[in-house]
Amino acid sequence: MPKTVLVTGGAGFLGSHLCDRLLEQGCEVLCLDNFFTGRKRNVSRHLGNLDFELIRHDITAPFFLEKVDQIYNLACPASPVHYQWNPVHTTKSSVLGAINMLGLAKRIGASILQASTSEVYGDPEIHPQPESYKGAVNPIGIRACYDEGKRCAETLFFDYHREHKLTVKVVRIFNTYGPRMQPDDGRVVSNFILQALRGEEITIYGEGLQTRSFCYVDDLVDGLIRTMETADNFTGPVNLGNPAEFTIRELAEKVVELTGSKSPIVHRPLPADDPKQRCPDISLARQELSWEPATRLEEGLKKTIEYFRKNHDG
Ligand code: NAD
Ligand code: UDP
Repeated sequence: MPKTVLVTGGAGFLGSHLCDRLLEQGCEVLCLDNFFTGRKRNVSRHLGNLDFELIRHDITAPFFLEKVDQIYNLACPASPVHYQWNPVHTTKSSVLGAINMLGLAKRIGASILQASTSEVYGDPEIHPQPESYKGAVNPIGIRACYDEGKRCAETLFFDYHREHKLTVKVVRIFNTYGPRMQPDDGRVVSNFILQALRGEEITIYGEGLQTRSFCYVDDLVDGLIRTMETADNFTGPVNLGNPAEFTIRELAEKVVELTGSKSPIVHRPLPADDPKQRCPDISLARQELSWEPATRLEEGLKKTIEYFRKNHDG
C-alpha cells in the first residue's frame, strides 16, 4: 500500500529533497510550508502530479488533516541569519509547531519524525558528540531561540511517546549542504561558493579554526527515510551527519580550489556563541539504520558548485 506522508517545511532545502525521494518511492506527499525560507520553485516540478499537494500553512497554528501515515516535521528556519531574524517566531515554530504536529499525529495515528539538530549540543565539551551527551547551550544567547526551541521539541516528542504511546523518531541533523540551499541564508557552504563564483572576498569568521562536519543532502535524506522506517520501538535520538571533520579554513581553501576562483580569503569577527567544534558520533546510526554517508566532501561540493553556477552565479 503506498503511504500518505506529510512533510512540514517541505518547500525548504532538505524538505524539497525529501519530497522528491518520497514521490520516487510511490508515496502520496502533502508538502506544507509557510514559505518563510522555502520556495515554491523548489517543488514546482511536482505541481501537476496528482500524488503531490502543496499547502500554505504556518505550523504555529493547528492543522487538521485525515489519513496520513507518516509526518516528517522539518518546518523551522535553519540558518543563523534566518532563525535570528524573528527569534520569537523561531521558538514558536519549534515548540508550538511540535505541539500541533504531535496532536495531529496522535489524533490520526501517524508516526512522526522530528528534524532536531546538532545545535542541541550547543558549544560541545565532548568530541565527537554521541547522543548521550547532554549539551552546553547558552539559554539566553542569540542562538538559543533555535537551540532551546529544538530541545523543547525533543522533550515534547518523548513525552507524547511516554504519555500517549505515539510512534516518534528524533534525528539530530548535523550541517548539511547541497543544491537548493538558499543563496541568502548566510550558511558557510553557500556563502563560500557564491563568493568564489562571483570573485568576491571569502569571509572566514574568526581564525577559521572552528570545525564542522558536512553531510551531502542525498545522504541525509536517505538517513531520514531509514529512521522513519525503523521498528516502532526505535525512537532515537539518532545523530545524522558526516563524521569527516574540516576546519572552516580548509573548507574555504577547498571551495577556492574546486571553483578555480581568484577570490581572496579575508577574516571577519566571529559571531557570538559560535560553536568551536562539531562532529557527529554516528555509531548508533550505523548500528540501527545500517546508515553512513557515502558522499565525500569534494564530490558533494562539486555538485553544489554546479548547481550554484547554473542558478545563482551573480
Ligand atoms: P530551510 O530553511 O530550507 O527549510 C525550512 C522550511 O520550513 C522552509 O521551507 C520554511 O519556509 C519552512 N518553515 C519555517 N517555519 C515554518 C512554520 N512556522 N510553518 C511552516 N513552515 C515553516 O532549512 P533546512 O536546512 O531545509 O532545514 C530543515 C529542517 O532540518 C529544519 O527543521 C532544521 O532545523 C533541520 N536541520 C537542518 C540542518 C541543515 O544543515 N540543513 C541541520 C540541522 C537541522
Ligand atoms: N562561517 C564563516 N563564514 C561565513 C559563514 C559562516 O566563517 O561566511 C562560519 C560560522 O562562523 C561557523 C561555520 O562557518 O563557524 C558554520 O556556519 P553556518 O552558519 O553554516 O552553520 P552553524 O554555525 O549553524 O554550524
